[in-house]
Amino acid sequence: KKSLVKPKEIIMLYKGTNITVTVDADGIAEFCYNAAGSVNKFDRQTLNEFDAATQAIAGDVNVKGVVVHSAKPAFIVGADITEFTTMFSATDEEMLAWIQESSGVFDRFEDLDIPTIAAINGMALGGGFEMALACDYRIAETNAIVALPEVKLGIMPGFGGTVRLPRLIGADTALEWMTTGANKKAPKALSDGALDAVVAPEQLIEAAKGMLSDAIAGKFDWRARKTEKMSPLKLGANETIMSFNTAKGMVYAKAGKHYPAPNLMVSTIEKAAGLDRTGAMALENQGFLTLAKTDAASAQIGIFLADQVVKGVGKKMAKQATKEIKLNAVLGAGIMGGGIAYQGAVKGIPSIMKDINTDALDLGLSTAAGILEKGMQRKKVTPAKMAATLNNITPTLDYNAIKDADLVIEAVVENPKVKGIVLAETETHVAADAVITSNTSTISINHLAKSLKDPSRFCGMHFFNPVHKMPLVEIIRGEDTSDETIAAVVATTLRMGKTPIVVNDCPGFLVNRVLFPYFAGFSKLVLDGADFVAVDKIMEKQFGWPMGPAYLLDVVGIDTADHAAGVMADGIPERMQKLDNDPVTLMYNANRLGQKNGVGFYDHGKDKRGRPSKTPAQVAIDMIAEHAAPAQTFSPEEVIARLMIPMANESIRCLEEGIVASPAEADMALLYGIGFPPFRGGIFRYIDTMGLANFVELADKYAHLGPIYQVSDGVREMAAAGKTYFTA
Ligand code: NAD
Repeated sequence: KKSLVKPKEIIMLYKGTNITVTVDADGIAEFCYNAAGSVNKFDRQTLNEFDAATQAIAGDVNVKGVVVHSAKPAFIVGADITEFTTMFSATDEEMLAWIQESSGVFDRFEDLDIPTIAAINGMALGGGFEMALACDYRIAETNAIVALPEVKLGIMPGFGGTVRLPRLIGADTALEWMTTGANKKAPKALSDGALDAVVAPEQLIEAAKGMLSDAIAGKFDWRARKTEKMSPLKLGANETIMSFNTAKGMVYAKAGKHYPAPNLMVSTIEKAAGLDRTGAMALENQGFLTLAKTDAASAQIGIFLADQVVKGVGKKMAKQATKEIKLNAVLGAGIMGGGIAYQGAVKGIPSIMKDINTDALDLGLSTAAGILEKGMQRKKVTPAKMAATLNNITPTLDYNAIKDADLVIEAVVENPKVKGIVLAETETHVAADAVITSNTSTISINHLAKSLKDPSRFCGMHFFNPVHKMPLVEIIRGEDTSDETIAAVVATTLRMGKTPIVVNDCPGFLVNRVLFPYFAGFSKLVLDGADFVAVDKIMEKQFGWPMGPAYLLDVVGIDTADHAAGVMADGIPERMQKLDNDPVTLMYNANRLGQKNGVGFYDHGKDKRGRPSKTPAQVAIDMIAEHAAPAQTFSPEEVIARLMIPMANESIRCLEEGIVASPAEADMALLYGIGFPPFRGGIFRYIDTMGLANFVELADKYAHLGPIYQVSDGVREMAAAGKTYFTA
């Protein structure tokens, strides 16, 4: 070993693009992450530098201890997820070699024969927190956040997290951290034992150096720290069985069969419990590889990347906004209007709420108050926040009250005539530069625009029910809508805490346009003799929707669904003609409106704890049987195909017609708008996973059922050319 350090001077021991290591006269090395990009993350380059920097430290006898810190507002945000798609499509051998090599870098750092400490500022997520775990000590600033969120991407920690965290904080707690992937604030991480100290931000580096000096001086047994992380878990045999069996049951109950990651984490940590670091790390390497190769991981990683796309598009559009929205006006204080007024108000945009009757206004206000009260019970809302939010909503019956509004959101009944009149009246009451939007679910924006003198200031702003919970707002550009209008509405949507996705106009826009063919597939299947309860079960348990189609129709409202199906049939008659004796229309004619009047496909009530409950309605079953083919059982594969092919086909048409700009935006719209199962990634990811050729073959098998099963020429050509919607 050589010595580079001369007394009283700071020398540069290692300098890379993303990492520098300096050593002071006392032999304290500052290992600083300072990426060339905006955040510190573990891409290939950084991992190489990490290894080289570690070797430089190991090779210098004068280095007595290491402080790892960041020069950015966050410590390290994790691995570079944009590298995953290509990396995970490598062969098993290549992938395994990469993960072994990468985790080996962390091991070599841990093996340094000097004390090490991580000084965590901002966020240490995933690989970032694994960096901290490879140190002997961890100190964080008061508002730091640490987590191992890999589970959210369908994978497990791969840089030693599953080995080190259980050995530091115990298997039970570590499993809770890893299987939920939840963010942990510094005080909680401290009490769980994942941190050794928490200090004010301005003291972070000094305090870290202080602890390190004490360790160097032998006041702490830092070697014992290393040994603990490299040894088997300290658990008795009985304890081990107990704790892992409990965890397995709980994790499986929560994650279910569609999410392999949390389940494999538990069994990996269990198998590794009796092993040293080498043995445990080999199991982690293997588990990481297994998960990286699952469809769920590519879907969940796909969602992460698609979300980045959607966020990027939204931010870019919002930046171009020239008009600032200071006051919203919502027309109609119903389910949607009340929710929209609340959402603006809670995010600090004062909202006028106008209706034509007082009862509706009272209902709108009490709905908002109800949401806030629930928040107060959960200690998420303070009384001051509740008061400020309610103060931000001004109920009125008077049109003149909207005269200063910058943005009007029309949410009156779904009737083209009524909406036309309301929009025309609105235009006479607001300033010439006010933006006017409609929350219609199905009516063409170009059609509604005809009621306005200036259609350039008009677009669709389609919220989802319940507004405060659903993240998506579909923004619909009509043929005359100006870019300024879209930019202002996108910016306001973001301020309201929602995710905007801009689509072009057509009946049903994107989300409802693809949802109604799915409902039509359901209706036809039921008329062919399927039991709607069985169909719901398959679509929930096997496909993974939050609600099966019959239940969803009951929740949406049978009247709403039946009416919207009519609008869709008028708009796209070549594919969306209503069926004779459509079960939805049968329910509607019998005044079975679903959850709202307690009867639909199901009878709705409340369970003992006051939560909504449902039982299949015999009346509904009998009513359908009168018009349907004799009852027969359909295989889960057939049920899924008959419902999902129409949705996929219509999504493909929307993409081909330019209604939606990209598969990524379409996937996020369905995920955020109607709860498309995350482990499937979205409708285009689903088609890709199946393979386009397989999809076309499957659809062709059902083509005789009608036009919603017939694939477009576009997808047929893509399939023949071996293409996919998302390229690796
Ligand atoms: P709703 O029946 O609950 O509320 C409509 C409200 O509009 C009523 O309070 C009514 O008094 C009021 N109204 C009627 N004419 C008016 C006028 N001239 N001026 C002011 N107020 C008037 O309906 P909703 O479910 O809230 O739906 C409203 C709109 O939102 C519809 O276009 C619907 O398609 C759309 N939408 C509904 C949902 C949903 O799930 N309910 C989801 C997305 C979009």
